[in-house]
Amino acid sequence: MQKIVTMERVHILFGSNMGDKEAIFAQACLLINNRCGRVVQVSGAYDSEPWGFVAEEWFLNRVIVVETDLAPEELLRRLLGIEKELGRIRHPENQGYASRTADLDILYFGSRVILSETLTVPHPRLHMRRFVLVPMCEVAPTMVHPVFEMTQEELLQHCPDDSVVKKLD
Ligand code: ADP
Ligand code: MG
Repeated sequence: MQKIVTMERVHILFGSNMGDKEAIFAQACLLINNRCGRVVQVSGAYDSEPWGFVAEEWFLNRVIVVETDLAPEELLRRLLGIEKELGRIRHPENQGYASRTADLDILYFGSRVILSETLTVPHPRLHMRRFVLVPMCEVAPTMVHPVFEMTQEELLQHCPDDSVVKKLD
């Protein structure tokens, strides 16, 4: 019997506020393409004000669009492995504290709604964050959020966040 493979289009948010952010992004794309599925599109680069906490370095944010046949939990497992590989830098003056050079969040997994102990999709805070919605509006402005039934553009219009998200060129 023929095995039916379902490909899903997944939107991932890359975030980094440490080190050579663009080099880390390039490495993340390479590893995702090798291990998680074909990278079919990436958004431009956005410089985002830290959200919800004080940090000196602003964030580089980009959306990565991937076509995958992996199950959501397996994709998450692999993304967490890539995050780890891209490095946690330890600050000797701040013992025990580890800061990540790369955060990879699953924003959307096709139009699936997933609620498990380890994974919530669509990402539960994406509609509250300009640094997610601005790059999403670049790559998929009319894509509908399966829970709120609003496009990315509508979500951005209704987003109360006023933090700065600047497109870099
Ligand atoms: P944050 O991304 O909120 O800054 P972390 O990256 O440290 O925080 O959180 C990682 C954990 O969040 C993962 O171990 C994972 O189990 C959980 N998680 C739940 N939903 C998602 C999602 N949609 N994408 C990525 N991680 C998720
Ligand atoms: Mg994360």
